[in-house]
Amino acid sequence: MRVDIIGSGVAGLAAGIYLQKRGVRTTIYERSASVGGLMTGWRRGKYSFNGCLHWLLGSAKGISFNTFWREIIDVDELQFVYHDERVRFDACGKEFVFYNDIDRLENYLLENAPEDAALILRWTGWVRMVVPLLDYLPPVFNGDFWHDFKLKLRMWRLLPVLAFVARSSKYTNRTFAKKFRSPWLREALTNLYQYEIGLPVLVFAQAYATKRVAGYPIGGSQAVTDKLISSYAAAGGNLRMSTAVKRIRIENQRAIGLELENGEQTAADYVISCADWHWTVFSAIGKQYLPSELEKLREPAHDDIFYSYCMLVLGVRRPMTDVAHFFRINEHITSPDGTEYQQVEVDVYNYDNTLAPEGCCSINVNFPTREGDFWINLRRDNYEEYMSVKKRFTDEIVARLCKYFGSDFAADVEVADLTTPATYYRYTMNYRGSSQGWSPRRNLLTPSPVSNRIKGIDNLLFAGHWVEAGGGVPVALATARNAALLILGKI
Ligand SMILES: Cc1cc2nc3c(=O)[nH]c(=O)nc-3n(C[C@H](O)[C@H](O)[C@H](O)COP(=O)(O)OP(=O)(O)OC[C@H]3O[C@@H](n4cnc5c(N)ncnc54)[C@H](O)[C@@H]3O)c2cc1C
Repeated sequence: MRVDIIGSGVAGLAAGIYLQKRGVRTTIYERSASVGGLMTGWRRGKYSFNGCLHWLLGSAKGISFNTFWREIIDVDELQFVYHDERVRFDACGKEFVFYNDIDRLENYLLENAPEDAALILRWTGWVRMVVPLLDYLPPVFNGDFWHDFKLKLRMWRLLPVLAFVARSSKYTNRTFAKKFRSPWLREALTNLYQYEIGLPVLVFAQAYATKRVAGYPIGGSQAVTDKLISSYAAAGGNLRMSTAVKRIRIENQRAIGLELENGEQTAADYVISCADWHWTVFSAIGKQYLPSELEKLREPAHDDIFYSYCMLVLGVRRPMTDVAHFFRINEHITSPDGTEYQQVEVDVYNYDNTLAPEGCCSINVNFPTREGDFWINLRRDNYEEYMSVKKRFTDEIVARLCKYFGSDFAADVEVADLTTPATYYRYTMNYRGSSQGWSPRRNLLTPSPVSNRIKGIDNLLFAGHWVEAGGGVPVALATARNAALLILGKI
Protein backbone atom coordinates (compact mmCIF):
# COMPACT_ATOMS: atom_id res chain seq x y z
CA MET A 1 0.00 0.00 0.00
CA ARG A 2 1.34 3.38 -1.00
CA VAL A 3 -0.23 6.76 -0.38
CA ASP A 4 0.77 10.06 -2.02
CA ILE A 5 -0.05 13.17 0.01
CA ILE A 6 -0.13 16.66 -1.50
CA GLY A 7 0.98 19.40 0.92
CA SER A 8 2.96 19.45 4.15
CA GLY A 9 0.65 21.64 6.27
CA VAL A 10 -0.79 20.27 9.53
CA ALA A 11 -3.18 18.04 7.57
CA GLY A 12 -0.54 16.55 5.26
CA LEU A 13 1.91 15.87 8.09
CA ALA A 14 -0.80 14.47 10.39
CA ALA A 15 -2.18 12.14 7.68
CA GLY A 16 1.37 11.02 6.90
CA ILE A 17 2.17 10.22 10.53
CA TYR A 18 -1.11 8.34 11.13
CA LEU A 19 -0.49 6.16 8.07
CA GLN A 20 3.25 5.61 8.58
CA LYS A 21 2.64 4.54 12.18
CA ARG A 22 0.29 1.86 10.90
CA GLY A 23 2.73 0.57 8.31
CA VAL A 24 1.53 2.40 5.21
CA ARG A 25 4.24 3.89 2.99
CA THR A 26 3.61 7.57 2.30
CA THR A 27 5.28 10.40 0.44
CA ILE A 28 4.41 14.04 1.09
CA TYR A 29 4.96 16.39 -1.87
CA GLU A 30 5.41 20.02 -0.88
CA ARG A 31 5.82 22.78 -3.46
CA SER A 32 7.36 25.24 -1.02
CA ALA A 33 10.90 25.16 0.39
CA SER A 34 9.47 25.24 3.92
CA VAL A 35 7.25 22.77 5.78
CA GLY A 36 4.08 23.48 7.75
CA GLY A 37 1.94 25.48 5.32
CA LEU A 38 0.10 28.19 7.23
CA MET A 39 1.11 26.81 10.63
CA THR A 40 4.46 28.48 10.57
CA GLY A 41 6.77 31.08 12.02
CA TRP A 42 9.79 32.91 10.69
CA ARG A 43 12.94 34.64 11.80
CA ARG A 44 14.27 38.13 10.96
CA GLY A 45 17.61 38.90 12.54
CA LYS A 46 17.38 38.35 16.27
CA TYR A 47 13.54 38.11 16.29
CA SER A 48 11.19 35.19 15.62
CA PHE A 49 7.55 35.68 14.67
CA ASN A 50 4.53 33.51 15.31
CA GLY A 51 2.60 33.19 12.05
CA CYS A 52 -0.55 31.45 13.18
CA LEU A 53 -1.59 29.89 16.50
CA HIS A 54 -2.92 31.87 19.43
CA TRP A 55 -3.75 28.59 21.07
CA LEU A 56 -3.50 24.92 20.23
CA LEU A 57 -6.80 23.13 20.77
CA GLY A 58 -6.02 19.90 22.62
CA SER A 59 -2.92 21.09 24.47
CA ALA A 60 -4.03 19.24 27.64
CA LYS A 61 -6.16 16.22 28.58
CA GLY A 62 -9.92 16.71 28.83
CA ILE A 63 -10.75 17.17 25.16
CA SER A 64 -10.79 14.75 22.24
CA PHE A 65 -8.24 16.82 20.31
CA ASN A 66 -5.66 15.99 22.97
CA THR A 67 -6.16 12.31 22.14
CA PHE A 68 -5.70 13.11 18.44
CA TRP A 69 -2.41 14.97 19.10
CA ARG A 70 -1.16 12.17 21.36
CA GLU A 71 -1.66 9.69 18.53
CA ILE A 72 0.89 11.56 16.39
CA ILE A 73 3.23 13.69 18.57
CA ASP A 74 4.50 13.82 22.13
CA VAL A 75 2.40 16.84 23.04
CA ASP A 76 3.73 16.85 26.62
CA GLU A 77 7.16 17.87 25.30
CA LEU A 78 5.66 21.20 24.27
CA GLN A 79 5.36 23.92 26.90
CA PHE A 80 2.03 25.78 27.04
CA VAL A 81 0.93 29.11 28.47
CA TYR A 82 -2.66 29.47 29.72
CA HIS A 83 -3.54 33.13 29.95
CA ASP A 84 -5.88 34.49 32.62
CA GLU A 85 -7.52 36.76 30.10
CA ARG A 86 -8.14 36.44 26.38
CA VAL A 87 -8.26 40.07 25.34
CA ARG A 88 -8.87 43.56 26.75
CA PHE A 89 -10.21 46.65 25.03
CA ASP A 90 -12.23 49.77 25.63
CA ALA A 91 -16.03 49.66 25.44
CA CYS A 92 -18.06 52.85 25.96
CA GLY A 93 -15.02 54.52 27.49
CA LYS A 94 -14.54 51.77 30.10
CA GLU A 95 -12.08 48.88 29.95
CA PHE A 96 -13.48 45.43 29.22
CA VAL A 97 -11.46 42.36 30.20
CA PHE A 98 -12.52 39.07 28.64
CA TYR A 99 -11.44 36.63 31.35
CA ASN A 100 -10.83 33.03 30.41
CA ASP A 101 -11.97 31.50 33.70
CA ILE A 102 -15.76 31.30 33.55
CA ASP A 103 -16.31 31.91 37.32
CA ARG A 104 -14.12 34.98 37.21
CA LEU A 105 -15.80 36.27 34.06
CA GLU A 106 -19.25 35.68 35.53
CA ASN A 107 -18.45 37.60 38.75
CA TYR A 108 -16.88 40.42 36.77
CA LEU A 109 -19.87 40.76 34.43
CA LEU A 110 -22.42 40.54 37.27
CA GLU A 111 -20.55 43.24 39.17
CA ASN A 112 -20.33 45.59 36.18
CA ALA A 113 -23.66 44.89 34.49
CA PRO A 114 -26.07 43.69 37.23
CA GLU A 115 -29.07 44.71 35.08
CA ASP A 116 -28.18 41.82 32.74
CA ALA A 117 -27.77 39.16 35.46
CA ALA A 118 -30.29 36.71 33.99
CA LEU A 119 -28.73 36.79 30.52
CA ILE A 120 -25.18 36.61 31.87
CA LEU A 121 -26.06 33.50 33.90
CA ARG A 122 -27.71 31.91 30.85
CA TRP A 123 -24.55 32.56 28.81
CA THR A 124 -22.12 31.22 31.43
CA GLY A 125 -24.51 28.28 31.98
CA TRP A 126 -24.07 27.24 28.33
CA VAL A 127 -20.29 27.30 28.77
CA ARG A 128 -20.54 25.13 31.91
CA MET A 129 -22.78 22.67 30.06
CA VAL A 130 -20.19 22.21 27.29
CA VAL A 131 -17.08 21.90 29.52
CA PRO A 132 -17.56 18.29 30.78
CA LEU A 133 -18.42 17.06 27.27
CA LEU A 134 -15.31 18.21 25.43
CA ASP A 135 -13.99 14.63 25.36
CA TYR A 136 -16.90 13.78 23.04
CA LEU A 137 -16.64 16.81 20.76
CA PRO A 138 -15.85 15.24 18.38
CA PRO A 139 -16.09 11.59 19.54
CA VAL A 140 -12.81 9.68 19.20
CA PHE A 141 -13.84 6.77 16.97
CA ASN A 142 -10.86 4.60 16.09
CA GLY A 143 -12.20 1.90 13.77
CA ASP A 144 -12.35 -0.79 16.50
CA PHE A 145 -15.91 -2.16 16.34
CA TRP A 146 -16.59 -2.58 20.08
CA HIS A 147 -14.83 0.66 21.08
CA ASP A 148 -16.82 2.63 18.51
CA PHE A 149 -20.08 0.84 19.35
CA LYS A 150 -19.77 1.66 23.09
CA LEU A 151 -18.85 5.24 22.27
CA LYS A 152 -21.94 5.62 20.09
CA LEU A 153 -24.11 4.41 22.99
CA ARG A 154 -22.71 7.24 25.12
CA MET A 155 -23.53 9.90 22.54
CA TRP A 156 -26.91 10.66 24.19
CA ARG A 157 -24.93 12.84 26.60
CA LEU A 158 -24.46 15.32 23.78
CA LEU A 159 -28.19 15.91 23.33
CA PRO A 160 -28.34 19.10 25.46
CA VAL A 161 -25.34 20.53 23.56
CA LEU A 162 -26.89 19.65 20.20
CA ALA A 163 -30.16 21.26 21.31
CA PHE A 164 -28.26 24.39 22.35
CA VAL A 165 -26.41 24.54 19.01
CA ALA A 166 -29.65 24.08 17.08
CA ARG A 167 -31.41 26.80 19.09
CA SER A 168 -28.58 29.32 19.15
CA SER A 169 -26.89 28.87 15.80
CA LYS A 170 -28.91 31.67 14.26
CA TYR A 171 -27.29 34.08 16.73
CA THR A 172 -23.86 35.66 16.49
CA ASN A 173 -21.96 37.55 19.17
CA ARG A 174 -23.34 40.74 17.59
CA THR A 175 -27.00 39.73 17.47
CA PHE A 176 -26.73 38.24 20.97
CA ALA A 177 -25.21 41.53 22.16
CA LYS A 178 -28.41 43.37 21.26
CA LYS A 179 -30.26 41.47 23.98
CA PHE A 180 -28.21 43.09 26.77
CA ARG A 181 -29.31 46.27 28.52
CA SER A 182 -25.88 47.47 29.67
CA PRO A 183 -24.43 49.63 26.84
CA TRP A 184 -20.94 48.64 28.04
CA LEU A 185 -21.63 44.92 27.76
CA ARG A 186 -23.49 45.37 24.49
CA GLU A 187 -20.53 47.12 22.91
CA ALA A 188 -18.04 44.69 24.45
CA LEU A 189 -19.85 41.63 23.06
CA THR A 190 -20.17 43.29 19.67
CA ASN A 191 -16.41 43.86 19.49
CA LEU A 192 -15.29 40.67 21.21
CA TYR A 193 -13.68 39.44 18.02
CA GLN A 194 -12.52 41.35 14.97
CA TYR A 195 -15.26 39.72 12.95
CA GLU A 196 -18.70 38.37 13.71
CA ILE A 197 -18.74 34.82 15.07
CA GLY A 198 -21.57 32.37 15.74
CA LEU A 199 -22.84 32.21 19.32
CA PRO A 200 -22.03 28.47 19.62
CA VAL A 201 -18.43 29.22 18.49
CA LEU A 202 -18.15 31.84 21.22
CA VAL A 203 -19.44 29.40 23.86
CA PHE A 204 -17.19 26.56 22.71
CA ALA A 205 -14.11 28.83 22.67
CA GLN A 206 -14.91 29.87 26.25
CA ALA A 207 -15.30 26.23 27.28
CA TYR A 208 -11.82 25.45 25.88
CA ALA A 209 -10.34 28.46 27.65
CA THR A 210 -11.88 27.86 31.08
CA LYS A 211 -10.99 24.14 30.98
CA ARG A 212 -7.41 25.08 30.01
CA VAL A 213 -7.22 22.67 27.09
CA ALA A 214 -6.15 25.28 24.50
CA GLY A 215 -2.78 26.74 25.48
CA TYR A 216 -0.34 28.88 23.57
CA PRO A 217 2.72 26.75 22.65
CA ILE A 218 6.00 28.40 23.66
CA GLY A 219 7.96 28.94 20.44
CA GLY A 220 4.67 29.62 18.62
CA SER A 221 3.27 27.68 15.66
CA GLN A 222 6.72 26.67 14.46
CA ALA A 223 7.29 24.66 17.66
CA VAL A 224 4.25 22.50 16.88
CA THR A 225 5.20 22.14 13.22
CA ASP A 226 8.73 21.07 14.23
CA LYS A 227 7.20 18.31 16.39
CA LEU A 228 5.11 17.09 13.46
CA ILE A 229 8.12 17.09 11.12
CA SER A 230 10.26 15.05 13.51
CA SER A 231 7.42 12.62 14.22
CA TYR A 232 6.87 12.05 10.48
CA ALA A 233 10.62 11.51 9.95
CA ALA A 234 10.82 9.12 12.94
CA ALA A 235 7.91 7.10 11.49
CA GLY A 236 9.91 6.68 8.25
CA GLY A 237 7.94 9.14 6.09
CA ASN A 238 9.33 10.55 2.87
CA LEU A 239 9.03 14.34 2.61
CA ARG A 240 9.87 15.88 -0.75
CA MET A 241 10.28 19.64 -0.48
CA SER A 242 10.22 22.12 -3.36
CA THR A 243 8.33 19.50 -5.36
CA ALA A 244 5.10 20.91 -6.76
CA VAL A 245 2.32 18.62 -7.91
CA LYS A 246 0.86 19.50 -11.31
CA ARG A 247 -1.96 17.00 -11.66
CA ILE A 248 -3.63 14.04 -10.01
CA ARG A 249 -3.41 11.01 -12.31
CA ILE A 250 -6.80 9.37 -12.74
CA GLU A 251 -7.55 6.20 -14.66
CA ASN A 252 -10.90 4.44 -14.88
CA GLN A 253 -12.37 6.87 -12.35
CA ARG A 254 -9.64 6.05 -9.81
CA ALA A 255 -6.68 8.12 -8.56
CA ILE A 256 -3.48 6.25 -9.40
CA GLY A 257 -0.75 8.75 -8.49
CA LEU A 258 0.57 12.19 -9.33
CA GLU A 259 2.22 14.11 -12.10
CA LEU A 260 4.79 16.53 -10.73
CA GLU A 261 5.77 19.91 -12.17
CA ASN A 262 9.22 18.42 -12.93
CA GLY A 263 7.56 15.90 -15.28
CA GLU A 264 7.93 12.90 -12.96
CA GLN A 265 4.97 10.54 -12.58
CA THR A 266 4.31 8.67 -9.36
CA ALA A 267 2.21 5.57 -8.71
CA ALA A 268 0.05 5.25 -5.60
CA ASP A 269 -2.92 3.26 -4.28
CA TYR A 270 -4.45 6.39 -2.74
CA VAL A 271 -3.98 10.12 -3.08
CA ILE A 272 -4.84 12.54 -0.26
CA SER A 273 -4.95 16.19 -1.23
CA CYS A 274 -4.15 18.38 1.76
CA ALA A 275 -3.55 21.34 -0.54
CA ASP A 276 -5.87 24.15 -1.52
CA TRP A 277 -9.33 22.83 -2.45
CA HIS A 278 -9.85 25.22 -5.37
CA TRP A 279 -6.52 24.29 -6.96
CA THR A 280 -7.14 20.57 -6.42
CA VAL A 281 -10.58 20.61 -8.00
CA PHE A 282 -10.15 23.10 -10.81
CA SER A 283 -6.50 22.49 -11.77
CA ALA A 284 -5.30 19.11 -10.51
CA ILE A 285 -8.31 17.04 -11.57
CA GLY A 286 -9.19 16.83 -15.27
CA LYS A 287 -12.28 18.74 -16.40
CA GLN A 288 -13.91 15.50 -17.46
CA TYR A 289 -14.00 14.25 -13.85
CA LEU A 290 -15.51 17.39 -12.36
CA PRO A 291 -19.06 16.91 -11.06
CA SER A 292 -21.26 19.68 -12.47
CA GLU A 293 -22.55 20.68 -8.99
CA LEU A 294 -19.04 21.87 -8.06
CA GLU A 295 -18.85 24.23 -11.03
CA LYS A 296 -20.62 26.96 -9.01
CA LEU A 297 -17.66 27.04 -6.62
CA ARG A 298 -15.21 28.06 -9.35
CA GLU A 299 -15.95 31.72 -8.54
CA PRO A 300 -17.14 31.58 -4.93
CA ALA A 301 -18.92 34.57 -3.43
CA HIS A 302 -16.84 37.06 -1.50
CA ASP A 303 -18.26 35.93 1.87
CA ASP A 304 -17.84 32.22 1.14
CA ILE A 305 -14.11 32.38 1.75
CA PHE A 306 -12.69 32.83 5.25
CA TYR A 307 -10.71 35.97 5.97
CA SER A 308 -7.10 36.31 4.96
CA TYR A 309 -4.77 38.62 6.88
CA CYS A 310 -2.54 41.60 6.69
CA MET A 311 -0.31 41.03 9.68
CA LEU A 312 2.38 43.47 10.70
CA VAL A 313 5.08 41.77 12.78
CA LEU A 314 7.41 44.00 14.75
CA GLY A 315 10.65 43.30 16.58
CA VAL A 316 11.04 46.01 19.21
CA ARG A 317 13.90 46.93 21.53
CA ARG A 318 11.59 46.99 24.57
CA PRO A 319 10.44 44.22 26.91
CA MET A 320 6.77 45.41 26.67
CA THR A 321 6.09 43.77 30.04
CA ASP A 322 3.91 46.69 31.14
CA VAL A 323 1.10 45.92 28.67
CA ALA A 324 -1.47 43.12 28.31
CA HIS A 325 -0.52 40.19 26.07
CA PHE A 326 -3.49 40.77 23.76
CA PHE A 327 -5.52 43.93 23.36
CA ARG A 328 -7.29 46.18 20.90
CA ILE A 329 -6.99 49.91 20.63
CA ASN A 330 -9.77 52.10 19.31
CA GLU A 331 -8.29 53.48 16.12
CA HIS A 332 -10.11 53.96 12.88
CA ILE A 333 -7.84 52.84 10.10
CA THR A 334 -8.47 52.12 6.42
CA SER A 335 -6.41 49.41 4.79
CA PRO A 336 -5.02 50.00 1.28
CA ASP A 337 -7.46 47.27 0.17
CA GLY A 338 -10.39 49.43 1.35
CA THR A 339 -11.29 47.48 4.51
CA GLU A 340 -12.26 49.77 7.38
CA TYR A 341 -11.18 48.87 10.92
CA GLN A 342 -12.53 50.54 14.06
CA GLN A 343 -10.00 48.75 16.26
CA VAL A 344 -6.40 47.67 15.89
CA GLU A 345 -5.61 44.27 17.42
CA VAL A 346 -2.20 43.77 18.98
CA ASP A 347 -0.55 40.52 20.16
CA VAL A 348 2.39 41.18 22.45
CA TYR A 349 4.54 38.10 22.95
CA ASN A 350 5.97 39.40 26.23
CA TYR A 351 5.44 35.92 27.75
CA ASP A 352 7.49 33.96 25.19
CA ASN A 353 11.19 34.70 25.56
CA THR A 354 12.10 32.26 22.78
CA LEU A 355 10.86 34.81 20.23
CA ALA A 356 13.09 37.75 21.18
CA PRO A 357 16.27 38.34 23.18
CA GLU A 358 16.14 39.77 26.69
CA GLY A 359 14.82 43.32 26.83
CA CYS A 360 13.16 42.95 23.40
CA CYS A 361 9.75 41.74 22.23
CA SER A 362 8.00 40.25 19.22
CA ILE A 363 4.62 41.83 18.34
CA ASN A 364 1.89 41.01 15.80
CA VAL A 365 -0.74 43.51 14.64
CA ASN A 366 -3.64 41.75 12.92
CA PHE A 367 -5.98 42.93 10.17
CA PRO A 368 -8.36 40.27 8.85
CA THR A 369 -9.42 41.02 5.28
CA ARG A 370 -11.63 39.53 2.60
CA GLU A 371 -9.85 41.51 -0.13
CA GLY A 372 -7.30 38.81 -0.96
CA ASP A 373 -7.57 39.42 -4.69
CA PHE A 374 -6.52 43.07 -4.28
CA TRP A 375 -3.17 42.07 -2.77
CA ILE A 376 -2.56 39.03 -4.94
CA ASN A 377 -3.27 40.96 -8.16
CA LEU A 378 -1.28 44.02 -7.08
CA ARG A 379 1.79 41.94 -6.30
CA ARG A 380 1.48 40.07 -9.61
CA ASP A 381 0.80 43.15 -11.77
CA ASN A 382 2.90 45.86 -10.14
CA TYR A 383 5.45 44.58 -7.66
CA GLU A 384 7.01 48.00 -7.05
CA GLU A 385 3.65 49.56 -6.18
CA TYR A 386 2.81 46.54 -3.98
CA MET A 387 6.00 47.10 -1.99
CA SER A 388 5.40 50.83 -1.61
CA VAL A 389 1.75 50.27 -0.54
CA LYS A 390 3.03 47.84 2.09
CA LYS A 391 5.60 50.37 3.28
CA ARG A 392 3.00 53.16 3.61
CA PHE A 393 0.59 50.89 5.52
CA THR A 394 3.41 49.74 7.82
CA ASP A 395 4.39 53.35 8.58
CA GLU A 396 0.79 54.29 9.29
CA ILE A 397 0.28 51.41 11.72
CA VAL A 398 3.52 52.18 13.56
CA ALA A 399 2.48 55.84 13.81
CA ARG A 400 -0.85 54.80 15.36
CA LEU A 401 0.95 52.57 17.86
CA CYS A 402 3.16 55.53 18.83
CA LYS A 403 0.00 57.21 20.17
CA TYR A 404 -0.22 54.43 22.76
CA PHE A 405 3.38 53.45 23.38
CA GLY A 406 4.97 56.91 23.16
CA SER A 407 6.50 58.83 20.29
CA ASP A 408 9.85 57.08 20.75
CA PHE A 409 8.26 53.67 20.01
CA ALA A 410 9.05 53.98 16.29
CA ALA A 411 12.74 54.38 17.06
CA ASP A 412 12.66 51.09 19.00
CA VAL A 413 11.21 49.15 16.06
CA GLU A 414 14.16 47.12 14.76
CA VAL A 415 12.22 44.83 12.41
CA ALA A 416 8.91 45.50 10.61
CA ASP A 417 7.50 42.94 8.21
CA LEU A 418 3.98 43.09 6.75
CA THR A 419 2.38 39.88 5.48
CA THR A 420 -0.59 40.22 3.12
CA PRO A 421 -2.98 37.74 1.47
CA ALA A 422 -0.43 37.66 -1.37
CA THR A 423 2.12 36.28 1.11
CA TYR A 424 -0.20 33.43 2.18
CA TYR A 425 -1.13 32.71 -1.42
CA ARG A 426 2.50 32.68 -2.54
CA TYR A 427 3.65 30.33 0.21
CA THR A 428 0.66 27.98 0.41
CA MET A 429 -1.56 28.60 -2.66
CA ASN A 430 -4.64 28.99 -0.45
CA TYR A 431 -7.40 30.51 -2.57
CA ARG A 432 -7.51 34.32 -2.11
CA GLY A 433 -4.97 33.80 0.68
CA SER A 434 -7.71 32.34 2.91
CA SER A 435 -6.44 31.62 6.42
CA GLN A 436 -9.03 28.94 7.29
CA GLY A 437 -10.68 27.72 4.08
CA TRP A 438 -14.44 28.23 3.72
CA SER A 439 -16.23 30.78 5.82
CA PRO A 440 -18.69 29.23 8.28
CA ARG A 441 -21.05 32.12 7.52
CA ARG A 442 -23.24 33.08 10.44
CA ASN A 443 -24.98 29.78 10.96
CA LEU A 444 -22.84 26.99 12.36
CA LEU A 445 -25.27 24.42 11.02
CA THR A 446 -24.75 25.51 7.42
CA PRO A 447 -23.13 22.44 5.84
CA SER A 448 -19.71 22.72 4.25
CA PRO A 449 -20.02 23.25 0.49
CA VAL A 450 -17.66 20.32 -0.07
CA SER A 451 -16.79 16.93 1.43
CA ASN A 452 -13.70 14.75 1.75
CA ARG A 453 -14.31 13.06 -1.63
CA ILE A 454 -15.19 13.91 -5.20
CA LYS A 455 -18.18 11.99 -6.46
CA GLY A 456 -17.10 9.59 -9.20
CA ILE A 457 -13.39 9.42 -8.34
CA ASP A 458 -12.24 6.52 -6.16
CA ASN A 459 -9.14 6.46 -3.96
CA LEU A 460 -8.91 10.24 -3.80
CA LEU A 461 -9.53 11.92 -0.46
CA PHE A 462 -9.34 15.47 0.82
CA ALA A 463 -8.05 16.52 4.23
CA GLY A 464 -7.28 19.94 5.61
CA HIS A 465 -8.99 23.15 6.54
CA TRP A 466 -11.11 23.29 3.37
CA VAL A 467 -13.05 20.14 4.24
CA GLU A 468 -15.21 21.72 6.97
CA ALA A 469 -16.35 25.33 6.93
CA GLY A 470 -14.54 27.37 9.58
CA GLY A 471 -11.31 25.42 9.09
CA GLY A 472 -8.37 26.02 11.38
CA VAL A 473 -5.82 23.62 12.82
CA PRO A 474 -8.40 21.40 14.61
CA VAL A 475 -10.27 20.76 11.34
CA ALA A 476 -6.98 20.07 9.52
CA LEU A 477 -6.03 17.53 12.20
CA ALA A 478 -9.43 15.82 12.48
CA THR A 479 -9.95 15.51 8.72
CA ALA A 480 -6.42 14.11 8.26
CA ARG A 481 -7.17 11.48 10.91
CA ASN A 482 -10.45 10.61 9.18
CA ALA A 483 -8.75 10.25 5.80
CA ALA A 484 -6.11 7.95 7.31
CA LEU A 485 -8.78 5.84 9.06
CA LEU A 486 -10.79 5.54 5.85
CA ILE A 487 -7.73 4.23 4.03
CA LEU A 488 -6.72 1.93 6.89
CA GLY A 489 -10.22 0.50 6.99
CA LYS A 490 -9.69 -0.70 3.43
CA ILE A 491 -6.40 -2.52 3.98
C1 LIG B 1 -2.51 34.69 10.49
C2 LIG B 1 -3.17 33.37 10.75
C3 LIG B 1 -3.61 33.06 12.03
C4 LIG B 1 -4.24 31.85 12.29
N1 LIG B 1 -4.60 31.55 13.58
C5 LIG B 1 -5.14 30.34 13.85
C6 LIG B 1 -5.45 29.96 15.20
O1 LIG B 1 -5.21 30.71 16.15
N2 LIG B 1 -6.02 28.74 15.42
C7 LIG B 1 -6.28 27.88 14.38
O2 LIG B 1 -6.77 26.78 14.62
N3 LIG B 1 -5.98 28.19 13.10
C8 LIG B 1 -5.42 29.39 12.82
N4 LIG B 1 -5.09 29.71 11.53
C9 LIG B 1 -5.47 28.78 10.45
C10 LIG B 1 -4.52 27.59 10.34
O3 LIG B 1 -3.20 28.04 10.25
C11 LIG B 1 -4.88 26.78 9.09
O4 LIG B 1 -6.27 26.53 9.07
C12 LIG B 1 -4.15 25.43 9.05
O5 LIG B 1 -2.78 25.60 9.33
C13 LIG B 1 -4.36 24.81 7.67
O6 LIG B 1 -3.62 23.62 7.54
P1 LIG B 1 -3.76 22.73 6.24
O7 LIG B 1 -2.78 21.62 6.37
O8 LIG B 1 -5.19 22.36 6.03
O9 LIG B 1 -3.41 23.68 4.99
P2 LIG B 1 -2.13 24.56 4.65
O10 LIG B 1 -1.44 24.99 5.88
O11 LIG B 1 -2.58 25.58 3.70
O12 LIG B 1 -1.15 23.54 3.91
C14 LIG B 1 -1.28 23.22 2.55
C15 LIG B 1 0.08 22.89 1.99
O13 LIG B 1 -0.07 22.41 0.66
C16 LIG B 1 1.00 22.90 -0.12
N5 LIG B 1 0.63 22.88 -1.54
C17 LIG B 1 -0.32 23.63 -2.14
N6 LIG B 1 -0.36 23.35 -3.46
C18 LIG B 1 0.57 22.40 -3.69
C19 LIG B 1 1.02 21.71 -4.86
N7 LIG B 1 0.49 21.95 -6.09
N8 LIG B 1 2.01 20.79 -4.74
C20 LIG B 1 2.56 20.53 -3.52
N9 LIG B 1 2.19 21.18 -2.39
C21 LIG B 1 1.20 22.09 -2.47
C22 LIG B 1 1.19 24.32 0.41
O14 LIG B 1 2.46 24.85 0.06
C23 LIG B 1 1.01 24.10 1.91
O15 LIG B 1 2.24 23.80 2.54
C24 LIG B 1 -4.45 30.91 11.23
C25 LIG B 1 -3.98 31.21 9.96
C26 LIG B 1 -3.35 32.42 9.70
C27 LIG B 1 -2.84 32.72 8.32
